[in-house]
Amino acid sequence: MRKPIIAGNWKMHKGIEETRQLLRELKDMEMSPEIEVVVCPPFTSLSEAAELLVGTAIGLGAQNMHWERSGAYTGEVSPCMLKEIGCKYVIIGHSERRQYFGETDEMVNFKVKSAFNHDLIPIVCVGENLEQRKNGETKSLVTNQVKKALEGLTEKQVERIVIAYEPIWAIGTGVSAKGEDANEVIKLIRDIIAGDFGKDISQKVRIQYGGSVKPGNIKEFMEQPEIDGALVGGASLKAVDFGAIVNYK
Ligand code: PGA
Repeated sequence: MRKPIIAGNWKMHKGIEETRQLLRELKDMEMSPEIEVVVCPPFTSLSEAAELLVGTAIGLGAQNMHWERSGAYTGEVSPCMLKEIGCKYVIIGHSERRQYFGETDEMVNFKVKSAFNHDLIPIVCVGENLEQRKNGETKSLVTNQVKKALEGLTEKQVERIVIAYEPIWAIGTGVSAKGEDANEVIKLIRDIIAGDFGKDISQKVRIQYGGSVKPGNIKEFMEQPEIDGALVGGASLKAVDFGAIVNYK
C-alpha cells in the first residue's frame, strides 16, 4: 500500500548545462509507474529542472533549506523559494549537513516543521557512523534522531513524511549495508513511529534506504518488507544507472 519512492540526491554536482543533459536522458527513459521518482539537483539548477520536468512523472526536490521564510540569513534558501520554484520534496538533515555544516537534531526538527508549514514534504535522513555502529549504538542513535526529527508534528504530517535510513559508513564508500540489516533498522524506525503516533500512521510512512545503492544491489533492498525505496547519491548522476535502479524489476 506504500508507493516506493526512489530519489536521486545529486549533491554538489550538475550545473545548468549538465542538468539539462541528464534530465533529457531521464525523460527519454521508460520509468516504472510503480515507483515515485524524484530528483534533487543543487539550488542553482532547480529552476531549470522544474521547467524540464513539467508534464513528466518525475518529481523535484531540494537538498536543504533554512526554516525561516525570509530574513537576514546570508547564503541561505527559504522554503517559500523552493515552493515557488516547484519543489515538492526537500532533503533534511543529510549526514553531510550534520557532519560538515553543524546541523543538529534541533535544527532538523525546525526544518521538518517548516517544510510542512510550506507544503513541502521532507525526506529526513538518519543513520549512524562506523564508530557508533561498532559500539552497538545504532539503535539508540537512530531512535533519538527519529524522535527529535518528528517532535511536535501532527499525525497528518507524520504520515506524509519520508525518512531515509542512511548508515554514514555506507555513503559514497561503495560498501552498502546488507538488505536484512537495513530492514531491521528501518523496522525499528517504524516501531518508534508506531509508539509515538500509532500503528496506522507508522504503516503509511515511507522509509528509504540510502548508502551506495547501485543497479546491482537495489533489488536486495527493495525486496525487504520494510524498505520503501532508496535515496541514491553517486549512482543518480548517470541516467543509465539511475534508470536501471528505478526499473530494477
Ligand atoms: P551514495 O550517497 O549513494 O553516493 O552512497 C547516498 C546519499 O548520500 O544520499
